[in-house]
Amino acid sequence: FTGQPCLVPSAVHVLVLLNPCCGTGKALTLFENHVMPMLTEANARFTLLVTERPNQAYEVVRDQDLSNWDVIAVMSGDGLIYEVINGLMARQDWADAIKKPISALPSGSGNALAASINYYSGHEQVTGKKLLTNCAFILCKGQLLPLDIVSLTTLPGKRIFSFLSVAWGLISDVDIESEKYRFMGYARFSIGTFVRLTALRTYSGRLSFLPGSSSTAEMESGGSPPTDGTLLEDHLLVPLDQPVPSHWHTVEDQFVLVLALYQSHLGAEHFAAPMFKGPGEGHIHLYYATSRISRTSLVKLFMAMEKGTHLDHDIPHLTHLPVLAFRIEPHESTGIMTVDGEEIQCSPIQGQIHRGLGRVISI
Ligand code: ADP
Ligand code: MG
Repeated sequence: FTGQPCLVPSAVHVLVLLNPCCGTGKALTLFENHVMPMLTEANARFTLLVTERPNQAYEVVRDQDLSNWDVIAVMSGDGLIYEVINGLMARQDWADAIKKPISALPSGSGNALAASINYYSGHEQVTGKKLLTNCAFILCKGQLLPLDIVSLTTLPGKRIFSFLSVAWGLISDVDIESEKYRFMGYARFSIGTFVRLTALRTYSGRLSFLPGSSSTAEMESGGSPPTDGTLLEDHLLVPLDQPVPSHWHTVEDQFVLVLALYQSHLGAEHFAAPMFKGPGEGHIHLYYATSRISRTSLVKLFMAMEKGTHLDHDIPHLTHLPVLAFRIEPHESTGIMTVDGEEIQCSPIQGQIHRGLGRVISI
């Protein structure tokens, strides 16, 4: 791992997976009007696959011969990228498959990876068509960067792979409860946050984590992934039904929010982790707020997050630190938990980072 960008070959063949129902439902028109002309100009060939149902993109990348394509471009929101990452990791040859460059063409209501890449590339924070054309331009330049992947295990024994976040509490509630405002596009998150802040909930549970950043990650490295079809090994984790290792930290409390984030943006206007300068830094940024946090502090936090200045203020009862692995154990199963913005069953979950396991078109 050198962190050096490399170029995808010229005259690339791009597989475009497009979700016609994402965001406000205009992805196909946006693709034809804004992305297609740029790909043609850049001399890139593409195959367009318009998804007809959830999970189709997952199945396509899990089952098809990927050697025909140099890049998988995802024209949707984070949900379809989540399908693609998990489809690649479900393959026998996952160790090679997960190296297939991914490109984010944002047209969903949650476009966090695209917004992060836009930031890493030095562009100013934008939304909508501007963000889409910036990302299409980044795709045409075709430079690659390593992408961190977090491997998650849930108590029912499910393995999930994630490129963005795990959230429990306020943030996941807003993400899922605001689905009903999705006709508003990105504004759904502002409305949803306002609604949830006026009726704040708390969540009882235990949060455990292994503090550390990329330098400690190198020391704790499990080496290169195997290439013989065996599963990716989570060398920092013990089974979820056993206590965490004694050198981990544990907080047992009433939480308002828990967020494990591994890209700079949580949404196009949620610049939640400005400390990330690239997609493969090798650690997770963990945020948690206990129930002692005031509503005024939370309002301040969300307002300042738009510009990424929330960490300039010391917000009482909000903790943030870099970690390599974490475990969330909710005491009740009634709350909402999300992975990359997608709802999962609210039950114990743990995960660890795998530095630069995937690759993304960036800068
Ligand atoms: P958004 O940001 O607008 O939510 P996502 O990329 O997250 O966009 O997509 C939302 C969901 O739509 C994903 O969970 C995906 O599985 C699903 N999906 C994909 N194709 C279709 C389709 N043709 N019809 C309905 N849902 C789809
Ligand atoms: Mg989504």
